[in-house]
Order: sequence, then structure tokens, then C-alpha cells
Amino acid sequence: MPTADCAAVVVGAGVAGLAAALELEKTTSEVVVLDAADRPGGVMRTDHVAGYVVERGPNSVQLKPPMYAALRDRNLDAALTRALPASRRRWIWRDAALQAVPMSPLGFVRTPLLTPLGKLRLLVEPFVRRRDASNESVAEFATRRFGPQVAQRLVGPFLTGVYAGDERTLGAGAVFGQLVEFERRAGSVVLGAAVAALGRGKPRAPAGSWSAPEGLGPFARRLADRLNEPPALGAQVVALHRDGAAWRLDVSSPAGESQLRAQRVVLAVGAPAAARLLGPLEPRCAELLAGVAYAPVVSLPLGVAADSLVRPADGFGFLVPRDADASLLGCLFMSQLFSGRAPAGHELLHCLLGGMRWPEAIDTPDDQLVERAARDLDRALGLRGAPQPLGVTRWRQAIPQPGRDHVARIAELRARLAGLAGLALAGAYLDGVAVADAFASGLRAAHELATPV
Ligand SMILES: Cc1cc2nc3c(=O)[nH]c(=O)nc-3n(C[C@H](O)[C@H](O)[C@H](O)COP(=O)(O)OP(=O)(O)OC[C@H]3O[C@@H](n4cnc5c(N)ncnc54)[C@H](O)[C@@H]3O)c2cc1C
Repeated sequence: MPTADCAAVVVGAGVAGLAAALELEKTTSEVVVLDAADRPGGVMRTDHVAGYVVERGPNSVQLKPPMYAALRDRNLDAALTRALPASRRRWIWRDAALQAVPMSPLGFVRTPLLTPLGKLRLLVEPFVRRRDASNESVAEFATRRFGPQVAQRLVGPFLTGVYAGDERTLGAGAVFGQLVEFERRAGSVVLGAAVAALGRGKPRAPAGSWSAPEGLGPFARRLADRLNEPPALGAQVVALHRDGAAWRLDVSSPAGESQLRAQRVVLAVGAPAAARLLGPLEPRCAELLAGVAYAPVVSLPLGVAADSLVRPADGFGFLVPRDADASLLGCLFMSQLFSGRAPAGHELLHCLLGGMRWPEAIDTPDDQLVERAARDLDRALGLRGAPQPLGVTRWRQAIPQPGRDHVARIAELRARLAGLAGLALAGAYLDGVAVADAFASGLRAAHELATPV
């Protein structure tokens, strides 16, 4: 079998792997990126269908300081565009109607999403006794600090939007690490946040939601184009071996089987794939990785004529709480977020279904998914006529679900990896599921490998 040598290999050209490779290239001349898929970007994929620009995976990015700084260093921040100001308004489904998410103190006073008692309970948060939240679920933490209404009606839908998850099983420490820390330090989340805001200087990343004008798939390709060597696509790593002080990877591609030997390896694949590769080498690491649960998500963009909507699709979109009688997790009004996403006179409504709430959606036939989505949209916005389906994408392992034990799980994983010199992990299952978190995990992996081995 042909064997090639290189300085570093990054397995996976999703956003985590691309970030790791770009960062490694600062210190290493020969970085090889391998991906089993036929294009870079992992779940970041954009298609053009019937005049619409359709995202198949993530729809927008909230920039965080590590990602923003890395993009700015490479003049790649200019490739991103901020969502239109009109998309600031967000909605929550309540009793088959859309209620505005309160975005200001006055908004909280006025919102019908909380009863007067629910609002009062929120106000007493600074007086709630401090407790150790390290083993709590998000629902337990939010209920204890802010009351059951805030937990169910605001926090629950927010987590649906980010994790497609269930607030009763997601871990507070992993999901709301900063809020847990505010409570630990200040005895109150609100007081802790206020103190932190006072000490904070200028924001280190611009606020808002971002994408490239042509979508996130092309943005991933721009990241890949910045690499010295383009990612090798259709190249699946099937095994990983120790080879003296180096690593050897078995690679399967349409051209045949081959091997790569490198001093440094970043595994920027999902937790299940990393578990398979690490199984024979470090069974406990594989066990920890295999224990990370994932939510399935169905992505279903629908096109509609703007004048077929009884109420305008105005704002960012809406999220649906767990206890609502609806099939949708939520819907993004993509043509309101970014211009050029729908033909003139049309709207792009991007529906998401499944998640931990309805995992069977992943195996539900297309026509039933479209019918259920259209029924919910009709209740939320009023639809005259059938929407135009723009393709169904099924992500079986879409979003990691950090549970109560996640912080301890990742700490043990990292401690054990320290014994495998020259190997680092990156990906959305480590320190946060958003694009910016996955990007930051790639930077961190590159820095971990920066010390000579
Ligand atoms: C439907 C959906 C909507 C989302 N919406 C948002 C959003 O709006 N905003 C946001 O911030 N985040 C969103 N997310 C989350 C975010 O997009 C992901 O968490 C993040 O992009 C994951 O990046 P990654 O690099 O860790 O993994 P991936 O993108 O999964 O990349 C992993 C790569 O590894 C490759 N690979 C796997 N095994 C092998 C192997 N053995 N050999 C070679 N290659 C291999 C795969 O082909 C893949 O390209 C969404 C996710 C989904 C699925």
C-alpha cells in the first residue's frame, strides 16, 4: 500500500477541521486535510433550487471572539454579511399564535408569554439561594433560578433552536456554563451578569447573525481555498495506528487504499466517528466519545409567494416550545434575514423538524413532513395555497446533546488524550455546538499540537 509522509493531518473538513488546518499552517508547512465527503464544509451546505438559496445545515453564525479574530487575521471577516436589521424580531409559538420574544426590560414587563406571577418570580432571582448546579439539567437550573414559566416558555424554545434538544436532559454546566459560573461567584445569575458587564470592555466580536451573501456552503469553500493544499475529498480515514512517535492513517478513496504518516493528527470528525477510530487504541476514550448523544434533525426549506401569507413572515422566525401541539421545532424566515435568498415576491421559510422531541421524523416520508410543516405554518402565519418544498435533508446525527455529565466527560477525555502525544480532537461535541464553537475547537486543537512532539 502506498505510504506518504507529512507534518500534520486533519481528518474532517467541516468548520472545525478547516479552522484547525488554517491555524496549523501558521506553524507547519505540510498540512493534509482529508474528508470523506465530496465537498468541504461538513454540515455547512448551500444549494440553489428554483431561484432560492437554500441552506441544508446551519443557517447563520453568531460570531464569537476566537472565530472573529481568526477570520479578521486572514481578511475573511469581509466575506460575511450581517443579517438585515428587520430580522431582529423573534417569535415564540404560544397557543398556535406567534408572540414576540421580549428583548428588553420593558419587553419583559409587557410580554404575554409570562403571567404576572411568572414575571414576579423572574424578578426575585437575585434573592434565590445559591446551590451547586454542576449536576443539574438546564430545566432544573432555569426553574430554580428563574421559575417554571421562564424555564418552559423561554429557555426551552431557545434550546430547541440551538440544540433541537430537551431542556430536561441537557446539562446546565455544559449548556449554560457562564450562567452557572455567575451563580457560583455572585450568588445570582442576574447580579453575576451585571458585574461581568461592568468589567467588560468593548465587545471582541460583532453582535448579530451572520452569513456569506451566497450562503454558508460557499463560505466554507472560501475557508478551504485559503489552505496551502486543497482538502483531499472522497478520502475516508478507516483506521488510525501508532507508528513509533508518529501516527499512521489508513485512507480509503475512489483512487484506492493508501496510508499517511504524520507527527500530528487532528480528528475533526463527529464523536461517533472519533470513537470508531480511537477504539482499538484507547478504549476508554472511545467509550467516552460514543456516550455523546446526538439529536436527529430534518431540514425542510419551503418557498411561498409573499402574498400567499395572511400575516407577513416578519423577523428572524419562530421557535416552538416542547409542550405545544405542533410538529415543527421552529421556522426561520430566511428571506428576511439575508437578501437574495428568494425570488422577487417570494419568501423562504426554513422549517426544522425532529430533534429529541420527535426523533421518528428522520424516517417519516417527505410528503408527510411537508404536510405537517404546512399545517403548522398555516396556523402560525396563515397560508393561502401550498408551499413549494425545496428538498428534504435528513441529518441523523445532527447536533450533539451535552448531558449532565458532559463537562466531566470532556475533562476526562482531554486528560486521557494528553497521553496520546501528537493527537488532538476538534468538533461541535466538545465545547459548544454552534459553528463558532466548532471553529474555536479547531483553533484549540491546533494550539494543543503546537508544542513539539
Ligand atoms: C441542520 C443543522 C442546522 C444547524 N444550524 C446552525 C445554525 O444556524 N447556527 C450554528 O451556529 N450552528 C448550527 N448548527 C450546528 C453547526 O452547524 C455544527 O455543529 C458545526 O457546523 C459542526 O462542525 P464540525 O466541523 O464539528 O462537524 P461536521 O460539519 O460534521 O464535519 C465533520 C466532517 O468530518 C468528515 N468525516 C467524518 N468521518 C470521517 C472519516 N472517517 N474520514 C474522513 N472524513 C470524515 C465528514 O464528512 C464531515 O465533513 C446546525 C447543524 C445542523 C445539522
